[in-house]
Amino acid sequence: HLPTAELQALDAAHHMHPFTTGNDLNAKGARVITRAKGVYLTDSDGNEILDAMAGLWCVNLGYGRPEMGQVAARQMNELPFYNTFFQTTHVPAIALAAELAKLAPGHLNHVFFASSGSEANDTNLRMVRTYWAEKGHPEKSHVISRKNGYHGSSMGSGSLGGMTYMHAQGGMPIPGIHHIGQPDWWSEGGDHTPEDFGLARAKELEEKILELGAEKVAAFIAEPVQGAGGVIVPPSTYWPEIQRICKKYDVLLIADEVICGFGRTGNWFGSNTLDITPDIMTIAKGLSSGYAPIGGSIVSDEVAEVINACEFNHGYTYSGHPVCAAVALENLRIMQEEDILTHVRTVAMPALHAALENLRDHPLVGGVNVCGMMASLPLTPHKESRAKFASEGGAVGYICREHCFKNNLVMRHVGDRMIISPPLVITPEELEVFEKRARQALDATYKDLKE
Ligand code: PLP
Repeated sequence: HLPTAELQALDAAHHMHPFTTGNDLNAKGARVITRAKGVYLTDSDGNEILDAMAGLWCVNLGYGRPEMGQVAARQMNELPFYNTFFQTTHVPAIALAAELAKLAPGHLNHVFFASSGSEANDTNLRMVRTYWAEKGHPEKSHVISRKNGYHGSSMGSGSLGGMTYMHAQGGMPIPGIHHIGQPDWWSEGGDHTPEDFGLARAKELEEKILELGAEKVAAFIAEPVQGAGGVIVPPSTYWPEIQRICKKYDVLLIADEVICGFGRTGNWFGSNTLDITPDIMTIAKGLSSGYAPIGGSIVSDEVAEVINACEFNHGYTYSGHPVCAAVALENLRIMQEEDILTHVRTVAMPALHAALENLRDHPLVGGVNVCGMMASLPLTPHKESRAKFASEGGAVGYICREHCFKNNLVMRHVGDRMIISPPLVITPEELEVFEKRARQALDATYKDLKE
């Protein structure tokens, strides 16, 4: 292919990147990734980069599994497309829906497919409103979510999300969506114990429901562990109280499992790990390990009964796309045949947690937030007080991310938190490489700050 500089120039001239400043691309050029195997990416200059983010939290199985390509090619030749609208269906969509019903908690037995997490959350928004309207309560239409939660980038899912910098562009949130505080003890817990703080943040849901009127609230949506918000692991008191409140006021609970699902927390779903019983789960990313764009909503018997009894005027051309569904099925087959969950629990998780504990002593690292194979290291100028840098907004996190990149490691930053979410198949030896490169990047960041 073309030399890197020419590719970067074409990229800057014609390719609009998500969540990226065009000026950055013109000044530095984007890193061009050309291939990948296991946990390593290769760029156009031949650098081997350890991907501690699994792409965007999605390549759970690791890169370069030939079976996935073979299944995709076979399905493309056999039936590249047919829709699932009206009364048609096809084998990959049937088989995947049945498999997901087997893996999901007992009462979640019905799947509505989409191509992404954003689309699936748009489905959820319309579905919960339709559910209550069909039950004779059209006014029960408001949805509550959380500040700093991420549920996607479309108008509906971006409004469900609580990222204010996103809301500032394009007229979000749309009406009828409300945000309560997040259970982020590290940043916002002050002198409270994590348990007290978790309870207080859960009680905000009850306050918001009472403020709006329970007869107006359709659903609450949250990630079991907030991912893009900075890997915010809720205190143990949080989810039991949230569930008690949802039950008390007849509010549907949507667990957004787009990151937490498919092994990321050490079980099939974050809801298993955190003991949550949702009415709907949003899935995407790890469903196909990112090899094909597919997402969906896994819905309880009770919700499905109401929705199936009406004509739900909603769906996407690619709902249940046969090639994507076949690839997702193959991903689930490999995960089960190779018992990836046992690898996570007995090998990868202990090794990752040990590596993170080793990094805890670094002068910049203010703590370790971790659940299964997703983690964040908040950077701080003062460990004891969990102080933030004066340059709030992630300047220090950005510097550290750049040092990681130079050091052939992908660690993303969310504000001043460094994020880790590697492929689930990562080995202890690869995690040693991660730890070494992460420490070097932290050292370089520390040195920059002192100069
Ligand atoms: N929900 C969560 C929890 C996510 O992390 C994301 C993406 O990062 C989404 C939804 C949106 O998914 P997609 O980017 O596939 O639309």
